[in-house]
Amino acid sequence: MAEPKTNELMEKIASLCKRRGFIFQSSEIYGGINGFWDYGPLGAELKRNVKELWWRSMTQERGDVVGLEATIIMHPKIWEASGHTSTFSDPMVDCLLTKKRFRADQVEPQSGVVFRFDDAVEAAAAISSANQSISDMPDGEQKEKLLRGVQKEVQLLRHALNLPRDQVFDPMELVGAFVRKYGRQGRSLERSFSVLVSSETESARAERVAQDFYEKQGLIAPIPRLARKEQVKDSKGFNSENGPGKGAELTPPRPFNLMFKTYVGPVESEENVAYLRPETAQAIFAQFKNVLETSRQKVPFGICQIGKAFRNEINPRNFTFRSREFEQMELEFFIRPDEAVEAICGKVASAAEVSNIEHRTADAQPSTLNPQPQPNWGWEAWHSYWVEQRIRWYESIGLPRATLVEYWQKPEELAHYARATVDILFKFPFSKRDDQGELTGEELEGVAARSDFDLSQHQRFSGKAMGVFDEELKVAWAKLDETTKQALGQRYQDARFAYLTKSGVAAEQAAWDAKADADGLAKGQYIPHVIEPSAGVDRLILALICHAYSEDQAPDEKGKLETRVVMRFHPRVAPIKVAIFPLLKNRPELVRKAEEVRELLRPHMAVFYDEVGAIGRRYRRQDEAGTPFGVTIDFDTLGEKGPELKDTVTLRDRDSMKQERVKTGDLLPLLLEKVR
Ligand code: ATP
Repeated sequence: MAEPKTNELMEKIASLCKRRGFIFQSSEIYGGINGFWDYGPLGAELKRNVKELWWRSMTQERGDVVGLEATIIMHPKIWEASGHTSTFSDPMVDCLLTKKRFRADQVEPQSGVVFRFDDAVEAAAAISSANQSISDMPDGEQKEKLLRGVQKEVQLLRHALNLPRDQVFDPMELVGAFVRKYGRQGRSLERSFSVLVSSETESARAERVAQDFYEKQGLIAPIPRLARKEQVKDSKGFNSENGPGKGAELTPPRPFNLMFKTYVGPVESEENVAYLRPETAQAIFAQFKNVLETSRQKVPFGICQIGKAFRNEINPRNFTFRSREFEQMELEFFIRPDEAVEAICGKVASAAEVSNIEHRTADAQPSTLNPQPQPNWGWEAWHSYWVEQRIRWYESIGLPRATLVEYWQKPEELAHYARATVDILFKFPFSKRDDQGELTGEELEGVAARSDFDLSQHQRFSGKAMGVFDEELKVAWAKLDETTKQALGQRYQDARFAYLTKSGVAAEQAAWDAKADADGLAKGQYIPHVIEPSAGVDRLILALICHAYSEDQAPDEKGKLETRVVMRFHPRVAPIKVAIFPLLKNRPELVRKAEEVRELLRPHMAVFYDEVGAIGRRYRRQDEAGTPFGVTIDFDTLGEKGPELKDTVTLRDRDSMKQERVKTGDLLPLLLEKVR
């Protein structure tokens, strides 16, 4: 559970992000707010580029997906239908000492000895009761022993009163001073508290932690009472943040709903409660019918959305990876149920049969790698298709396949309605390593086959029909023989019955409804199934930044090698595409020409103009910003060294640092080809 020590690379990356204006801590001047991040000038450009590329590839470059932009706050019933109100929670535990909250599943198991205290009393009370008996006693060995026995309380009182350690005090005088200062005496607190330490010899440490705990509960100079000690193994009941074997007790796990709550309207009452959406997907389901009716799309088709989502994460961490406010890019792709596909096409193509969805191999020809969706695709083929499409998209923006992991969730990990889910992971520097030392990766995107669960839920909760009418199915069904009709109808009915009963509908009602659904199928009606590729923008930005970060050696102005930090962004996502440098800023003819080049490129791409400092330093600044191209306007451009070089510029490549002379007139098409 303890925050893994952010490795050195992540520290460098986070510091570059701040220094160069990619990412800042939100509200930094007020000390920041945990789990919230702002994007600076370069980060904002990077993010816009990524979102625009996603949008373009999802909608504009294909005919079967349309967009939506819905509100963040929606009717609270939406979250009841989706299950978020009742189940969108992580079990969490609180540290009784520090009050810090952790996700129960992230607590590190610890072994050692648990010291259990069941109450505590203020030192003054202990000392004064001991003193009562001591004062009646004749001097002697026993009295000495008793006096020695209150030394600990004396120390605690001294500490509470801030008195010097070496001065000798009469115990009762101390009690008097204590009472004068705090005005009360003799409180005790019956509240149990446990501490885990690595071995019995650390009892003093356990007691100190307990003292700290009881002090925080309001006791002054408390003396905890030890109830028992016991050996434990792999316990997840203690806070391990201070290291192994140094843990204060944690509360038992409790569910914690991750949705941010607010009130709509002036009255803060239960009926006005609303939530900031924890995902963008539900708006797509809620608007499914409106989009279907206005977009002239037919199943199979998709609706996509980019937008903010909010989750009150228990433990935001790893820079922006787990934030409380973030953006998602989600697609809901609606497909026919397999029974409808079979009725229309005679057979459903399995994912394995769809041979051209095979994954890319080193020698595969691109032509075999671009499967065209087919009418006989069922959910399996569509699911594999979207996994592959998404991985290709990541490749197209500069994340090679080798940096990604395709993780197929195991049956026991799947949500009850999901038929398959593939998580696309990126190997972040902070990812755990497997036994072979390979980074295991963290989730960038989930691609889930969610059956017809979502639309069915909204149909039940809203009372509005969410099904579609499919003319092709109606015509095909009429031509089927009776046995096939019977078999397909029964399969559909069984699936609907299973959904309904799992969702809490009584068996008798569910049987009736499922039969009605199967009758509907025969007339061309069904609730579409859905494949959902759901990606996080911020996690992707972090992946792009981590992948782009590199250090190499490059000569400085005097030719001496120095470390160069380069952000090797793919030109498509790079915040600035090209930087324009007049060689000298005090030569008006150079500046004029450079401004001309800037104006030539500016309408087409993000351009940065920089005339300050030595040219080498200007290159370095752009390397750190990840600008893939630099254009230098020098005396050759003006034709001073001969007419053949007039109107040519130097084009510098960020990664290879190679420079070539290019005609000004060729610059725009050449760059456009690389940045689009
Ligand atoms: P995790 O298991 O990491 O909490 P999840 O499985 O709950 O993620 P989904 O509900 O599937 O995530 O959300 C889809 C995508 O939204 C994730 O793949 C991720 O990219 C992004 N996302 C989810 N939670 C966060 C978060 N707290 N911060 C940033 N991005 C997030």
